[in-house]
Amino acid sequence: MAMIETIVIAGGTHGNELTGVNLVRHWRDNHYAVNHQPLTIELLQANPAAINANKRYLEKDLNRCFKLSELADPKANNQEQQLAKQINQQLGPKGDARVDFIIDLHTSTANMQTNIVLIKMDDFHLKLAAYLKQQLANVVITSESRLMDDHHFLCSIADKGIVVEVGPIPQGAIEYDAYQKTESAVKKAIEFADRYNRQQLPDLGESLEVMSYFSKVYFPTTQNDEINAAVHPDLIHQDYSQITTGTPIFKSFDGEDIYYQGENAHIAFVNEAAYYDQKIALCLCNPIRYCLTSLKPLG
Ligand SMILES: [Zn+2]
Repeated sequence: MAMIETIVIAGGTHGNELTGVNLVRHWRDNHYAVNHQPLTIELLQANPAAINANKRYLEKDLNRCFKLSELADPKANNQEQQLAKQINQQLGPKGDARVDFIIDLHTSTANMQTNIVLIKMDDFHLKLAAYLKQQLANVVITSESRLMDDHHFLCSIADKGIVVEVGPIPQGAIEYDAYQKTESAVKKAIEFADRYNRQQLPDLGESLEVMSYFSKVYFPTTQNDEINAAVHPDLIHQDYSQITTGTPIFKSFDGEDIYYQGENAHIAFVNEAAYYDQKIALCLCNPIRYCLTSLKPLG
């Protein structure tokens, strides 16, 4: 079994998500990363220019720039695409990376709790997720139902990688509660890596529930493509709750309810501020239970 030796904690992949930015700063200033023998912990402030500007990104979302095809494309040279190539040289190269495990820190304006985003469903990632869920309160595991072979996330540079995304917290703000939840998740993920290396994991149960995304709901718009309704007040902060055909999902500015039409679903990223540029009002997911032995969905 390949050992996990070098772990990267990345903050500021999105420059206005200050929880990770401050965790990386705090750990750096306090030399926190040196105290994890035999593991080597490295800290990365991913997008300093976006952090200075207090923006998610300057030209392109950095966390969408790490596909192999884009990293290899000489014409992909806006600020974030250049930065992605630089980070890939520093931590990677992707496919044969110098570092073993990347924990990338994000926040959400939605009530996502401690959301662990998986981009791989192998033994390490499913057991890591089960461990975090067992050891911490209010952890929800999410993934795309169809995993990309060549993912665009920063954490895909290494063989092992997750996103830790805590919310609700506004963009550009720090709250101790979100900081503390993020730091606990990072510490537990490091602890897991050490126990995984030593093959000393506790009993993690037989299966793990993963909320699996299958669709998005866009805001209603005018003919000029301007948003003309709000997410229904009953759904605000109700992430992971269920909706069915007929659930009021938007309220127009005249006060009229607009109803959901579609298959039964759970909602997530409800009214996420970072998704307004794409006019996404919320995402739809449903739980899938993965067997921790076969690593396949059950039934
Ligand atoms: Zn983010």
